[in-house]
Amino acid sequence: MTAKFRFAPSPTGYLHVGNARLALINWLFAKKVGGSMVLRLDDTDAERSTDEYAQGIQDDMQWLGLEWDELKKQSDRSADYDTAFEKLKAAGRLYPCYETGEELDYKRKRQIARKLPPVYDRSALKLSAEEKAALEADGHQPHWRFLLDQDVVAWEDEVRGHVEVDCASMSDPVLIRTDGRPLYHLPSVVDDIDFAITHVIRGEDHVSNTALHIQIFKALDAAKPKFAHLPLLMGPDGGPLSKREGSQSLRELRETGLDPMSINSLLARLGTSDNIEVREDLAAVIAGFDISRFSRAAAKFDPAELKKLNAKILHAMPWEAAKDKLAIDGAHEAFWLAIRGNIETVVEAKSWWTVVDGAITPVVEDAPFLKSAAELLPAGEFDEGSWKIWTGAVKDGLGVKGKALFMPLRQALTGQSHGPEMNKMLPLIGRDKTLARLNGETA
Ligand code: GLU
Repeated sequence: MTAKFRFAPSPTGYLHVGNARLALINWLFAKKVGGSMVLRLDDTDAERSTDEYAQGIQDDMQWLGLEWDELKKQSDRSADYDTAFEKLKAAGRLYPCYETGEELDYKRKRQIARKLPPVYDRSALKLSAEEKAALEADGHQPHWRFLLDQDVVAWEDEVRGHVEVDCASMSDPVLIRTDGRPLYHLPSVVDDIDFAITHVIRGEDHVSNTALHIQIFKALDAAKPKFAHLPLLMGPDGGPLSKREGSQSLRELRETGLDPMSINSLLARLGTSDNIEVREDLAAVIAGFDISRFSRAAAKFDPAELKKLNAKILHAMPWEAAKDKLAIDGAHEAFWLAIRGNIETVVEAKSWWTVVDGAITPVVEDAPFLKSAAELLPAGEFDEGSWKIWTGAVKDGLGVKGKALFMPLRQALTGQSHGPEMNKMLPLIGRDKTLARLNGETA
C-alpha cells in the first residue's frame, strides 16, 4: 500500500504559521517515503468558508513549494457522508437527540456546579418512539450523536508513542447537526477512508478527536490509519503564539519580504533537537526529515529566528535569484552585491535603492568638515578603490581618522549610521549625489 497523507485546512481563514508547519510536515513525510498528499479543504462550515480563503490557501502552499497530488473539497462529498450516516444509523451507532443548545448548557452548568464532569447524560437514548414522534410532530428536528463505546482507545502515535484515551469520560459526539449537515468528525473519517489515507498528521489539539475517530473507523468497518500528533507552536516565552509572534498569516509574512525557504527551513526542524540551518531548497529539507525526531514538548516559534534565517539566505543569494524578488526598477547586480549583507528581508532593499538612486536628506553634524572632504574627492569615475583613496586623502589632509573620519562621511552620503560597505556604495551613489550630500543638500 502506498503511503498517502493529507493536509486538511478549513477555508475559514488564511494559513498561519501553525497550519503551514502541518502542511510542510505532511508533505515532507510523504516525499520521504515516496507517498502522495491530498489537500483536503474542510469546507463543511458553509457560513464561514469562502472561495477566497480556499484559493488563498492554495496560493500560500504553492508559494512555499508544497504541491499536492489531489485536491478534494468536503462540500462536494455530501452524498458520501449521507451513505456513512445511514450505515452508522443501521449499526445502531447514531441516535437522535432533541435538546436545544440552552438545555445542554443548563445541564452542563448543573454538572459543573455539582463537581461532575460535563459529559452528555445520554437522556435522548431513553426516549421512546412515541416521544420522538411527538417531538418531531412539534417541529423539533434531531441532531445525531455517535454512541461511543465507553472503553479505552489506544494507538501507537508516531510522535507521542503509546497513547490511551478513556472514552468513558467523553460525551457522545454530535456528528450531524439539526439542519442535517455533518460536523467535522464524520466527513474527516469518511474522507480518510475513501481517499485511502495511511497517515494522519495533525496538531495535538486533536488527540481526543482521534480516539473517537478510531471508534468511527471501526464502526464503518475500516482500518485506522497511523496517527501523529504534533505539539502546538508556542511563542518565544513559552506562552501561546501572539499575533505579532506568528499567528500572522503566511501572506502577511510573505509581504514582509521573507523567502519561503526561511519558513520551510525553520518549521521543518522546530520541535526537534536538530540544528536549524537554512536549506537551499525543499529537497535538502526532505533529506534530513524524520518524524521520530519530533519531541512531545511544545515547540517555540520565534519570529526573530525566522528573520535571521532569512538574512542568511539573502546574504548568499546570487543576483539571478534576487532580481525578481526585489521588484525594484533599475536595480542591478552591483547594487545587490553591495547591500545583500545588510538586509534581513528583501523589502529592506528598497530603502538602500533610495540611497543609491533616489533622494535622501544627509545627516550633517560638521558641515565645514564635509565641505573640506568634498574637495578631496578623487577625480574621474568612482570605482571600488575610490573610497580608500578618498578617505586616505581626508585623513592626511584634515588629520582625522577612525570613526571620526568614517562616520560623518557615511552619515552624509547615506543618511544612516550603519549600512553596506562604503567602498561599494560610493560608486553606486556617484559623484553628483556625493557632492550634493556633502554640501548638506537633499539629493
Ligand atoms: N480542518 C481540521 C483542522 O484544521 C482538520 C484536522 C485534521 O487534520 O483532521 O483542525
